[in-house]
Amino acid sequence: MIPVNEPLLDGNERIYLNECIESGWISSDGEFVERFEKAMAAYVGRRHAIAVANGSAALDVAAAGLKLGHEDEVIIPTHTIISCASAIVRTGASLRLVDSSQETWNMDVTKIETAVTSRTRAIMAVHTFGLPVDMTPLLNIAKRHDLVVIEDAAQAIGQTYNGARCGSFGEVSCFSFYANKHITTGEGGMIVCDDDALAARMRSLRNLCFKPEKRFVHDELGWNYRMSNLQAAVGLAQFEKLDTHIARKRELGQRYESLLRGVRGIELAPVSMSYAENVYWVFGLVLDDNFPIDADVARSILAEGGVITRPFFWPMHEQPVFLKQGLFNGESFPVAERLGRRGFYLPSGLGLSEEQQNRAVAAVRNMLAMFL
Ligand SMILES: *Cc1c(COP(=O)(O)O)cnc(C)c1O
Repeated sequence: MIPVNEPLLDGNERIYLNECIESGWISSDGEFVERFEKAMAAYVGRRHAIAVANGSAALDVAAAGLKLGHEDEVIIPTHTIISCASAIVRTGASLRLVDSSQETWNMDVTKIETAVTSRTRAIMAVHTFGLPVDMTPLLNIAKRHDLVVIEDAAQAIGQTYNGARCGSFGEVSCFSFYANKHITTGEGGMIVCDDDALAARMRSLRNLCFKPEKRFVHDELGWNYRMSNLQAAVGLAQFEKLDTHIARKRELGQRYESLLRGVRGIELAPVSMSYAENVYWVFGLVLDDNFPIDADVARSILAEGGVITRPFFWPMHEQPVFLKQGLFNGESFPVAERLGRRGFYLPSGLGLSEEQQNRAVAAVRNMLAMFL
């Protein structure tokens, strides 16, 4: 069996974890939390970094930190994880969805401006799978309409756009350290920003909004979204290996690319765009429209052969939870619908061996050959 993701924990993780255990600092009060925050802030060139329990929590705190509310609309890609949508919806704000680019699978930035209304407050840029969102046009639209940019860089730590690091573009930018991300803390996340007041507000929201001058008194509702020192210890050790992990992802992706490019029946993401080289967070493929089976069937055939894959995102406008609320009825975003039905990704973990990769490629070729 080839797992879809195997993390790589071969740095100082054990040493730092032992320090936590020996010192007794295991909650969020330990020093690794601050060290990890400082390292991340410096890496993306931001004034503030706030460690949180996971990437979804980072998005919740970002949305609440920006004081989004019932009056507001936020533009997000429909092809994304539910965390992006739920963070916005829970503030009372409305979603305006945008379709994907057929080429990069990211939000189609040429379709953003028509979604802007007098109520639009923010655009959320979500970098997916390995290429960044085309940020220049997005930032220009934000500037023209005085909109805030929220950046979800969960899959893009270490990636750049025109030489600037992903995570440096948002009023607030968010990261995840889930086990399949470029660096992991098992579960974990980080918020970065430059504004001092916003940072203070988000730190408070992360920590139940305890009043600094009077603990257990609250002006607002927050969350316990703190990251523990144990998680941050692993995070700092992983951070020290970030460049190695990025190089390894690119190596794995380029190897898949060279073995699968030109194979009939599938489309692959570009190796590079003018603004970035694919970092291959995961190696995705999309079955051609005339290929007779969809991603679910293809994935089950691959699973029978021991190759575990994951589907692409299912579009937000087709989520039962939102349709039940009467949202998005009759809206259609054909590229994202196609990606949801025909896209999936191959085993892409940092721990993947060459032999496992060869087997995964052979399984894909065999599966395609069954129908071509
Ligand atoms: C992983 C991920 C998240 C959520 O992070 P968790 O730590 O799993 O909560 C959010 N956005 C994107 C794009 C992700 O890939």
